[in-house]
Amino acid sequence: MSRISVMKPWLGPEETEAVSRVIASGWVAQGPRTVEFERAFSTAHGVSHGVATSSCTTALHLALLVAGVQPGDDVIVPSFSFIATANVVTYVGARPVFADVDLVTGNVTAETLDSVLTPRTTAVIAVDQGGVPVDLDPIRTLCDRHSLALIEDAACGAGSTYRGFPVGVGADVTAWSFHPRKLLTTGEGGMLTTDNPEWAARARRLREHSMDVSAAERHTSVLPVQESYPEVGFNYRMTDLQAAMGLVQLGKLPEMVRRRRALADDYRAVLSTLAGLRYVTDPEYGTSNFQSFWIEVLPDFPLNREELLAWLAADGISARRGIMAAHRQGAYAGHSGLVRPLPMTERLTDNTLILPVFHSMTEDEHRRVTASLRAAAESPRNTRNHSTIMGSR
Ligand SMILES: *Cc1c(COP(=O)(O)O)cnc(C)c1O
Repeated sequence: MSRISVMKPWLGPEETEAVSRVIASGWVAQGPRTVEFERAFSTAHGVSHGVATSSCTTALHLALLVAGVQPGDDVIVPSFSFIATANVVTYVGARPVFADVDLVTGNVTAETLDSVLTPRTTAVIAVDQGGVPVDLDPIRTLCDRHSLALIEDAACGAGSTYRGFPVGVGADVTAWSFHPRKLLTTGEGGMLTTDNPEWAARARRLREHSMDVSAAERHTSVLPVQESYPEVGFNYRMTDLQAAMGLVQLGKLPEMVRRRRALADDYRAVLSTLAGLRYVTDPEYGTSNFQSFWIEVLPDFPLNREELLAWLAADGISARRGIMAAHRQGAYAGHSGLVRPLPMTERLTDNTLILPVFHSMTEDEHRRVTASLRAAAESPRNTRNHSTIMGSR
């Protein structure tokens, strides 16, 4: 029985060829392909400027800096997110303040953000968790009312839409991830997008040690150029090898989204017939790319979350625990930014799991997952014990 992975990137000979051409060109660091990828990606996402980075984490770090977040500020983030969302706030010397999320979308809302607003809050990071678009308009209103910068963590969001537009459009600055766990991948990589030309220009400099002349410009100029370093910057560059791959992947994105949405539809058709499982769906205001297809194991299901993970594993299916909660990690233990309890975050992080969804998933693999879920749903309650499940199968 072959194992079904939870996620596999969709890569082919086109990516190999594009990367080979970059190698043959002799220019492998950040250069013309990166510029081309930035333009193509920002155009496809309805934003004026794109700044490619080494990851979404580094794009978020730059986003906080260009938005003017200062040491000692508070930045509201969901705890229910990959820990990078909270960590970047810590990088700039600010304090992440944790907001709870909506049970249906897994995202922060204007209400959950408003309820943890502190006098020192200067920015909000709204996440499109697992690809589900965050309800941005009410958050925009809240941020405008309190003069807060609105940063969107669209790490999982390429190909998701909000009110008919790509996610990220309504934020002041948005960060994207191209890690293989997301849809569009460059191995590692990220992008910052914004409509603010000054912020884009500063992010571009900060990405490259804050040099006022880029390495690519220096290299191509005939006369030696004297660069200067007006502030402390970073090396957060993307390579042209990655950008070449990104350009091919960007072209495949619509097809990836179509495939994942079809797989999600097929899951929902089966799950809607099983009691005790709740599943992620499109919110009324937008569409998900289903980067993560999660289900919540409810108390009336015969197995709990850990038992269902073991059940699926016994059938050769790699599911994963749902999104983590940053406030529960050692990095934020005893952290003063937990100003209110986070009941929805804790319920979701304790009871959800992520089912396999990937572009090349076959009908047969999909059927194996749904058959295993159906069998679990019909299992007698007295198998609620890990060893019993493993022993009986
Ligand atoms: C994956 C992810 C990140 C980090 O992305 P990297 O490109 O690996 O740095 C940040 N935020 C969220 C919500 C993510 O899912």
